[in-house]
Amino acid sequence: MSNAAEGTDRTKRDDRPWRLVARETRPAGSRVRIGEGAGAVEVGGPEFVVAAGPCADETRGQIREAAEEVARAGARLLRGGAFKPRTSPYAFQGLGEEGLRLLAEAGREAGLPVVTEVMAAEEVGVVVRHADALQVGARNVQNYALLKALGTAGKPVLLKRGFATTVDELLGAAEYIVAHGNPDVILCERGIRTFETATRNTLDLNAVAVLKALTHLPVMVDPSHGTGRRDLVVPLSKAAAAVGADGLLVEVHPHPEAAWSDGSQSLPPALFAALMRELTGLLAVQDRTLPLSGGRLDEAALGTCRERIDSIDGAIVGLLQRRAELAVRALWIKRACGRALEAPEREAAVIQRAVAAAGAGFAGSAGALGAAAIERLFRAIIDETRQVEARLAGALALDGGCCPARVPA
Ligand code: PEP
Ligand code: MN
Repeated sequence: MSNAAEGTDRTKRDDRPWRLVARETRPAGSRVRIGEGAGAVEVGGPEFVVAAGPCADETRGQIREAAEEVARAGARLLRGGAFKPRTSPYAFQGLGEEGLRLLAEAGREAGLPVVTEVMAAEEVGVVVRHADALQVGARNVQNYALLKALGTAGKPVLLKRGFATTVDELLGAAEYIVAHGNPDVILCERGIRTFETATRNTLDLNAVAVLKALTHLPVMVDPSHGTGRRDLVVPLSKAAAAVGADGLLVEVHPHPEAAWSDGSQSLPPALFAALMRELTGLLAVQDRTLPLSGGRLDEAALGTCRERIDSIDGAIVGLLQRRAELAVRALWIKRACGRALEAPEREAAVIQRAVAAAGAGFAGSAGALGAAAIERLFRAIIDETRQVEARLAGALALDGGCCPARVPA
């Protein structure tokens, strides 16, 4: 590259309001660790991290029950606001420091690190004493005094996008925190204001994909504030996982009908547990994991673990059926093309690819099953597929017609 071209490039880079958070600074993406010891959680890695809990900390009983329920269902972080930014000055403003204490206590008991909002630079000190991660709310994303103060907070920051913040402005806000000394920033899409009134906000999943390309910072999604409607939280959570978000921030209340704020968008525990089950199969297909909280080794944890296995089994059966259908279709196409129906070299390549992806097994990084186990399983799948194909070939020889919708038994 000529000096002139380099100069142009440098000028271009320097014009951007954000550089430290740019993807090219860390092409592999950054991981943000929240909490300490065995309960610590890493956002931005292969695990899909779900933070859940009430909009606001209300009472010791409420936050405890919420913590217990979301931990049981597999959340890895507990959320709950103590300093609440409310539209009306007459609405519940949060319990303040007492709320922080209750949240921290409930998180400790349930084995979950806690994340909670900080609204002003002067409050950073008190929130840092109780929280494992500090949330900047939509209304404060461009409160630069607060962002600078968070640069030296020493704890990770969950930075929410504002209702009218562009992606560029959000990245500029993140850059403030990083430039002032704190590299541990997680972005959170929580819906923007559009002409649409059917939902509280419009969850901008475009932004998630755009952010994943532009920045190395992890990106979470808040489908609760993003939609404002309990019935939309499950489908939009799945959409967030599908588009590549690193996790979710979900409002869950033990008794949403009695919540002091945002009850209509809060999930009751049973619905939250159902969401986590549905996400398990979906994430497994993307080769991502939805971990259970590490500290729990009781009967309830066993039940949750088994529900997760059932969810993955459902996905496996579906995948095997779709695979067999395609193999049958391929046979029909091969016949139409005048090709040999058997393709041993392709079968060998299929097995080889699966084995290569399997890695070393339990001690390795790719998964619990080793190469030999994966090879056996794939040989069985191919064997079963061959039998289906043989039955189909027989049927085709008989009528010579088109591919039957069902293969004769
Ligand atoms: C919250 O998550 O508690 C909250 C107030 O959300 P937002 O800042 O996105 O409105
Ligand atoms: Mn809320």
